[in-house]
Amino acid sequence: MTAKILDGKKLASLSEEEIKNEVSILLSKGIQPKLATILVGNDPASETYVRMKRNSCEKVGMESIALELPETTSTEELLEAIQKLNNDSNVHGILLQHPVPSQIDERKCFDAIDIEKDVDGVTCLGFGNMSMGIEAYGSCTPAGIIRLIKHYDLDIQGLNAVVVGRSPILGKPMAMMLLNLNATVTICHSRTKNIETIIKKADLVVGAVGIPRFIKTEWIKKDAIVIDAGFHPEKCGDIDLEKMDEISSAYTPVPGGVGPMTINTLILHTMQSAKKLLTN
Ligand code: NAP
Repeated sequence: MTAKILDGKKLASLSEEEIKNEVSILLSKGIQPKLATILVGNDPASETYVRMKRNSCEKVGMESIALELPETTSTEELLEAIQKLNNDSNVHGILLQHPVPSQIDERKCFDAIDIEKDVDGVTCLGFGNMSMGIEAYGSCTPAGIIRLIKHYDLDIQGLNAVVVGRSPILGKPMAMMLLNLNATVTICHSRTKNIETIIKKADLVVGAVGIPRFIKTEWIKKDAIVIDAGFHPEKCGDIDLEKMDEISSAYTPVPGGVGPMTINTLILHTMQSAKKLLTN
């Protein structure tokens, strides 16, 4: 059997067209969806990510405003900037690009984002709501993965899912989202013992480790669903995807799998946030 390729590039581009249509309807009703991005310091990778996110907004007719703060910004200064954006009724989503410089209390700043504008799904409240099955914008990478799973009609109910990684933006929300879809979830991390044995039993594996090709081909069970959230300069992910065509039942390629879904999910959430104005 040849595996199904979970084509994030294709789904993101389909979704972009739908978002564009929704945005033009909102514009015709006098609503201009707007994302505010906050970049603190001069990290080149973060600058690139923010630029990509702003370009994606532009492509679908959404506006974005960029707040650039110096490397020396304090927690209080950043909190003040977030508060201003919370109070700006023309802003529908706020993205605080992370990591922020070490003197800043990142968690405190994330949690200062108004829940209605937390389109990147980074607040504790948003995480709690999502975990409880209450409507919330989930963290964009895991939410994008769930969109892929649903788009390709993969039935994950009852599957033995293993998430490798437990970061607040990826591993943890991923595990809760899979649990909400009735998978049986195990979370592995850097202190997990016998990780290979655990992964070998997985019907669905999510690689969110941050180490190139950490998960080996031989660890993947026949016909498992393989989701690789990693992306590294050598153009590979956290899973050795060679031979996945033959081994897995479905897998996300790298590049072109999970990556394109992350930004697409951010702009989708921002459009949805603006759209709420029609019903409120
Ligand atoms: P992170 O914050 O560095 O978290 C990595 C996780 O992996 C941690 O929970 C860590 O465990 C665990 N880990 C590290 N070494 C391990 C080991 N030897 N065995 C088992 N677990 C280990 O990374 P992240 O932000 O979640 O990102 C993970 C990956 O996803 C990266 O490759 C990143 O580039 C990618 N990513 C992609 C997107 C996208 O848009 N496509 C977005 C975000 C992230 P501890 O908690 O015990 O330290």
